[in-house]
Amino acid sequence: MQLIYKINYHFLHNEVEKHWPGDHQMKNRLSIIEEPNNPAEPQMVRMAYLSVIGSHKVNGVAALHSSLVKQKLFPEFDELWPDKIVNVTNGVTPRRWLANCNPELAELIDSTLKSDWQSDLARLGELKIWADDPEFQKKFAQIKRDNKMALASVIDELCGVKVNPDAIFDVQIKRLHEYKRQQLNLLHIMAVYRRLLEDPDLDVPHRVFIFAAKAAPGYLVAKNIIYAINRLADRVNNDRRIIDKLKVIFLPNYRVSLAEKIIPAADVSEQISTAGFEASGTGNMKLALNGALTIGTMDGANVEIAEEVGEENIFIFGKTVDEVSDLRQRGYNPRDIYQHNEELKAVIDWLASGDLSPDEPDAFRPLVESLLDSDYFLTLADYQSYSDAHDRIVKAWKAPSYWWRMAIINTASMGKFSSDRSIADYCKTIWNIGL
Ligand SMILES: *Cc1c(COP(=O)(O)O)cnc(C)c1O
Repeated sequence: MQLIYKINYHFLHNEVEKHWPGDHQMKNRLSIIEEPNNPAEPQMVRMAYLSVIGSHKVNGVAALHSSLVKQKLFPEFDELWPDKIVNVTNGVTPRRWLANCNPELAELIDSTLKSDWQSDLARLGELKIWADDPEFQKKFAQIKRDNKMALASVIDELCGVKVNPDAIFDVQIKRLHEYKRQQLNLLHIMAVYRRLLEDPDLDVPHRVFIFAAKAAPGYLVAKNIIYAINRLADRVNNDRRIIDKLKVIFLPNYRVSLAEKIIPAADVSEQISTAGFEASGTGNMKLALNGALTIGTMDGANVEIAEEVGEENIFIFGKTVDEVSDLRQRGYNPRDIYQHNEELKAVIDWLASGDLSPDEPDAFRPLVESLLDSDYFLTLADYQSYSDAHDRIVKAWKAPSYWWRMAIINTASMGKFSSDRSIADYCKTIWNIGL
């Protein structure tokens, strides 16, 4: 605390005083120590301010978030030090996340390009001329199928569930947090299940929804979402009426070595955070690099992925950052949406009814209350748009030459997201060293 007070004194009396002479309100606003509104409350240390003051540069890690950091989070710091807040978009290493984890695809790219794409990932762009080639599509699709067979064995080993490698493998793998909205995925899967029960002959492709995630130990609602996905999985996977039209898998102990097995086998990549909350994401990059199509919001690096692959090769849905803030300003009441969306209401009522956990009828109360009482992350507000985007995925899957063209274009368009490019950017804009 002695050091923090010294840093604060220097910052307010030298830096802030020089830029805004005599402006005591500004000193109050930028002080590392926050004074409470109510004198009974304690003072607080503004850790983020301390970080910005102490740092040479501050990186927002993707274009959208860097601009939010400048305009919404630290506008005064950006005025004081206009060169401090910068953007270097994150990247992933193509050695681990393609060459090593997906050797068959790496081999196909090697034999097609005959160039060193691993150390110059932009060269993947040369694959685009093959996107419509039936022979190339066949090889690309066969590799995906081989990887899905391999993942199916892992799933059988870890969960004791047999999945069909010809089904759509729809994957959401990331830390469990309400802003990442695994609960949105869960509600939609319950809706798909319900549609199948109402009409078991429904003409839809077979689907396997795959999750892997850890929650912080004390995060009650996150633990509750994990439990709900697992109870739904137990029900769905043993329901003879829908045999293998729908499977739900929650793989335990999510970690890099497991991600390396899931990512090469993914058809669909779920990147569905509330706009404004995912600083970048890197799972989105790993999955698109391996030919998975993204269903995602305009958040984090998804914005730049959409720019690279083209709007026609990604399934974008949901509220934008500006729409999220408009809705919050107008006053958001999740119950309005719940009352007016018949399918969504039926699914939430089902979750609340205890039917999925007859032995513990109140098991999902924390989740249901979080959705209906505040829904801070706007799950209900984005539900219909998300469900519509899934309908577009189903339609695209039914036209294989169209699907594989999109998948190939995704792999071919990921050049920007190499960590080599990120590190080169760090050298130039942050560390001031030549590479
Ligand atoms: C890539 C990766 C992440 C980050 O995933 P996001 O979807 O970007 O949140 C987290 N955990 C593991 C094990 C990963 O490999």
